[in-house]
Amino acid sequence: MKFCSITSGSSGNCQYIETENARILVDAGLSGKAIETNLKEIGVDPHSLDAIFVTHEHSDHIKGVGILARRYHLDVFANGNTWLAMENTVKQIETSKQNCFVNGEAFFYKDLAIYPMSIFHDCVEGTGFVVENQEKRISLLTDTGWVNSKMLEKMSGSDLYYLESNHDLQMLQNGPYPRRLKDRIASNRGHLSNDHAAEILGQLLSRKGEHVVLAHLSGENNMPIIASRTAREYLEKRKFHEGIDFILEVAKPKMNSNVIEI
Ligand SMILES: [Zn+2]
Ligand SMILES: [Zn+2]
Repeated sequence: MKFCSITSGSSGNCQYIETENARILVDAGLSGKAIETNLKEIGVDPHSLDAIFVTHEHSDHIKGVGILARRYHLDVFANGNTWLAMENTVKQIETSKQNCFVNGEAFFYKDLAIYPMSIFHDCVEGTGFVVENQEKRISLLTDTGWVNSKMLEKMSGSDLYYLESNHDLQMLQNGPYPRRLKDRIASNRGHLSNDHAAEILGQLLSRKGEHVVLAHLSGENNMPIIASRTAREYLEKRKFHEGIDFILEVAKPKMNSNVIEI
């Protein structure tokens, strides 16, 4: 399986997953053009894409969904409430290309089994995805203020965790955002903090060299070096050693051509 976080953060989110039989995007929160350019950069012809899986209707996740779906005749997957909420942005998509899943119910697409899990976020019905084929499993979880035991159970055993590490709590509290927005971000329907992400990883990792990609970092209230240090220090204290038990990266907010092969 191949994974590339094309872009991550409040200015746009788009992740690419490739297996033998499937080439999918999880979200397409940049312009169609920008996503096309970056796919070409990693050697992927956009014509070879199969589908886009949508996590939720916020514009940093769906900006390019309609354009790409129409241009390349892609299947688009979202749950029913998200379809309704994103209708105005995504606009017309062929009925035969509109696919609806139910959160909490696994489904199959080509050589993939996909488990959509409900997230805790200020959208109509957001989703995190566990995507697996015969050999490998990837968990993608961002835009959630809370992670419950069911989510942990579904994600455990993954070869790659693409996990939100949105903000440093101190930077958020001392930063420029108005109080209401700070409270929203830190709430259990907002975003995961660095500390929270580290804790989650402590529960998920199993000392078999899993990849960790810290994702959806805030440009205002976080820095890659702080996010990775928080996770590393927390995990090292619990005897998880970087480079042996886990491989740590931070997803870049700008276009990124780093492909991880698992
Ligand atoms: Zn987002
Ligand atoms: Zn969001």
